[in-house]
Amino acid sequence: MFSAAVAYALGLRNRFRGLTVREGLLVRGPAGWAEWSPFAEYTHPEIDAWWQATVEAATLGFPEPVRDRVPVNATVPAIGPEAAHALVATSGCRTAKVKVAEPGQTFADDVARVEAVRDALGADGKLRVDVNGLWDVAAAERNLRELARFDLEYAEQPCASVGDLAQLRLRLARAGVDVPIAADESIRRSGDPERVVAEHAADIAVLKVQPLGGVRRCLELAERLGLPVVVSSALESSVGLAAGVALAAALPELPYACGLNTATMFTTDVTTRPLVAVDGEIEVRSVDVDAAADWTAGPDATAAWLERLATVPGARATVTTVIPGSTPDLRPTPTGATHEGEL
Ligand SMILES: [Mg+2]
Repeated sequence: MFSAAVAYALGLRNRFRGLTVREGLLVRGPAGWAEWSPFAEYTHPEIDAWWQATVEAATLGFPEPVRDRVPVNATVPAIGPEAAHALVATSGCRTAKVKVAEPGQTFADDVARVEAVRDALGADGKLRVDVNGLWDVAAAERNLRELARFDLEYAEQPCASVGDLAQLRLRLARAGVDVPIAADESIRRSGDPERVVAEHAADIAVLKVQPLGGVRRCLELAERLGLPVVVSSALESSVGLAAGVALAAALPELPYACGLNTATMFTTDVTTRPLVAVDGEIEVRSVDVDAAADWTAGPDATAAWLERLATVPGARATVTTVIPGSTPDLRPTPTGATHEGEL
């Protein structure tokens, strides 16, 4: 089914999610290149959904888009205020997402970073924070009350559990603090995304294609949830990002900027035409990997990724050809060609 598999390794400009290098596997199928890149700590069965997304992208491609550009936010890691200001000012984006609650930092660091980003955006820019579930309900209420003066578009996953998000939402409403809540980890890692809606735990759903098993599955989930959707990346290469862009392009409504401009966080990419925003928007298009770009991780890394893939039931047998060594055949998939039965 898949005619090639090759591991990539991309350097990160700033440490993100504890990573300095992002690694993943690219496979080529009849519909083109696709990415499989569950983070190192994820295992079966969670990584199975990631593989379903890969299979969809490589074999079926994506549903018809209803827009040809997707508005995106700048993503601000847990960096100092001056660097955060410069990042947003030069991003071309009118929306910024600021990472807060970084282990080892203080809330004062968060306030300084958020303040700098608000200053860079100006009063009419949109500013959201992502807490990655690291505050308890009391801290979230206290901190969001303080951050509300920077006019937050929303707070993403301020607490870890669905119950805590629901309680926080109620407390903020009672206190007259107008900060909507977005659920991210509670959608993709809880195993029960619909609980977020049943418990009134969020105003917005963050959807990520790989963890949720593909673009079509995300479209179905969005319909079931009935919440406005923000599509975010799982820090993929431009090949994986194309799936997120395809989801954002196919959603009937897209009221918020998406978290898909993360290729800017890498020092290199798997293509010489990375999916990055121009004037705050990413073009809806396919991505082909490019041998001229400096990204291959080497045969040992590819072997390790295929070993990991073998823990996904039925997956390893579908990847029949591995690109060995450092001179991979990265020719574009011929349009209209099918590789079925070819191997
Ligand atoms: Mg998040």
